[in-house]
Amino acid sequence: MIKPPTCIKCGKMMDDDRDYYCADCRSYEHAFVENKAVFAYKGEIRNAMYDLKYSNRRENADFFGEAIVQRFGGYIKGLGIDVIVPIPLHKKRLKKRGYNQTALIARYIGEKLSIPVDEELLLREQSTTAQKFLDNHERKNNVKSAFKVYENDVKYDRILLIDDIYTTGATLHYAAKELLRHGMGAIYTITVCIGRGY
Ligand SMILES: [Zn+2]
Repeated sequence: MIKPPTCIKCGKMMDDDRDYYCADCRSYEHAFVENKAVFAYKGEIRNAMYDLKYSNRRENADFFGEAIVQRFGGYIKGLGIDVIVPIPLHKKRLKKRGYNQTALIARYIGEKLSIPVDEELLLREQSTTAQKFLDNHERKNNVKSAFKVYENDVKYDRILLIDDIYTTGATLHYAAKELLRHGMGAIYTITVCIGRGY
């Protein structure tokens, strides 16, 4: 479980409670308002996430969704979120895996909190190399133009983006940027897991 002190922008745990921002957030702009995460990306949680993504353990999505609802349900309600949007997979990868693990988590949260989930709003344009094989700089370039919003009449005022793991924040940054470019309002983000801030 993530415990304070955490970075006020991305939610990473930090060593020193005199710091407001982690090193990443001091160096890079993030287009989302703030990120929150439930778990440190390690141990059993890391295994459960791996199984959800690569071993067809879809039931783990309910566990992760419930963890987000328990920890941040009140926070999400308080934000007055209009719609929950999962970070999409490219359609080739979606076809190969058969499901988007992040969409499963988003659906669970949406159902529990009675907030609509929009899986069509944001699309992943290009087949990107799996982020885990890239260094930080490569990760940013890899997702820079990955997300697209197609012509859309609905302008949501407050969006909650859901992703599985927060590493550098590049994925959520570029997804949020694309949504903002299309006239959407504030973008908040929640991830199941997050790396350490030091
Ligand atoms: Zn941070």
